[in-house]
Parts: sequence; C-alpha cells; structure tokens
Amino acid sequence: MSLAERYSQIKASIPPDVTLVAVSKTRGAAEIQALYALGQRHFGENYPQELREKQPALPQDIAWHFIGHLQRSNVKHVVPFVHLIHGVESEGLMTEIQKRAVATGRTVDVLLQVFIAHEETKHGLSPVELRAALNDWPWRAWPNVRVRGLMGMATNIDDRAQVRREFEGLAALWAEVRRLKVFPEDQFTELSMGMSGDAELAIAAGSTMVRVGTAIFGAR
Ligand SMILES: *Cc1c(COP(=O)(O)O)cnc(C)c1O
Repeated sequence: MSLAERYSQIKASIPPDVTLVAVSKTRGAAEIQALYALGQRHFGENYPQELREKQPALPQDIAWHFIGHLQRSNVKHVVPFVHLIHGVESEGLMTEIQKRAVATGRTVDVLLQVFIAHEETKHGLSPVELRAALNDWPWRAWPNVRVRGLMGMATNIDDRAQVRREFEGLAALWAEVRRLKVFPEDQFTELSMGMSGDAELAIAAGSTMVRVGTAIFGAR
C-alpha cells in the first residue's frame, strides 16, 4: 500500500471530531512533506533535536505536537513554535514552560500525562498523583500555560480487554477532572490516547486525539 492509501484508510477509520496526529519521528522531511500534500497538518515528534531540525525546513502552518519525554533543558527549543506538549508530568516542567512562554510572548497548550499502563517504561503521573497535583500545584503561577486535557499510553500487549480497561480508566479520570473545574471546561477538552495498534479501542473509550505513526508511514 502507498502512503496515500494508508493515510486515507486511517482517515476513514477516525471520526471527524477526533484529531489525527501523524507521528513522524525518525521520518525525513520528504515523507512529512508528502503527507502534508495529502492534507495532513498535525504532526507529532518525540525528540527535541529532531523537531528543531525539521520545523524550519517544513511548512510553517504545520501544528507540531511534542509527544515525547520533555526535559527541562529542552523546553526552550520547542516552546517558540510548538502547538501542544502532550507529556507534562511535573511542577518543574510547568514552571519552565511558563518561563519560556513568557520569554517568547506565547501561551502554550499542554496535556498532563497520566500513567495508566502496567509497564515500568511509561512516564506520567499516577491517578493518585494527578488528583493530588490538582489540589497542590500552584496552577495560578502559570498563566501562560493552558492545560488542555490528559494524555496516556496503554500497555503494549495483545490483551485487548486490558487495553480497553486502561483507556476507559483514563477517560473516567478525564471526566472527573472536567467536573472539578480546576481548568475552564471550554479549555480542558482534549484526551490524547490511542496509537497505531490501539486507536480503535481508544476512540471507543472517548479519545479526542490519536497519535498514529507506523499505520501511516510504515514500520520504523
Ligand atoms: C511513537 C509514538 C506514537 C506512535 O506509535 P505508532 O505505534 O507508530 O503509531 C504515539 N505516541 C507516542 C507517545 C509515541 O512515542
């Protein structure tokens, strides 16, 4: 199958109100440009250095999503242009994003990453830590950082029932946070979950944003 065929197949399987983020890590500028030419505008990258090199070389109306593990030292490199940072999991990162957002005269949108997988390798706050953060973190100290929702990754396994349970758990937590109104309801609207292998399950559980790499571009 060609890139165009894979892309239209993915597009057809995603409801129009769910944002498709094309994960382009390790992909060259030409491949990204080819997908852009097919109409795709939201792209996701994991590595700050790679994103820094690609961004100036590609169309300026691309909405870049940073979906990797962001270290404080790299915040300054992505804040000037990033559309959405998916993986915020600490006060220190919030403070650094605030600082760099002010320096560039921007307001930066972020998602709080929640740890839902039964794996050691995934980052994020546990549900208990998230609830504590809602109470304890100084949200008003970060006026240039808008928390738009939550992000999570399910366990990478074949047990569909477990993956579904993890997504449903995150969706329930997201609804709970919305009800608490720590963040304005019209701002806290995004739930980023689902990748190539589990996007269908994530969408069924209420995802508003899927991050799809290999199903569009092929194996990395
Ligand atoms: C790489 C990556 C994806 C995309 O994974 P695919 O299996 O290629 O669709 C999605 N989300 C995150 C956080 C990733 O690192």
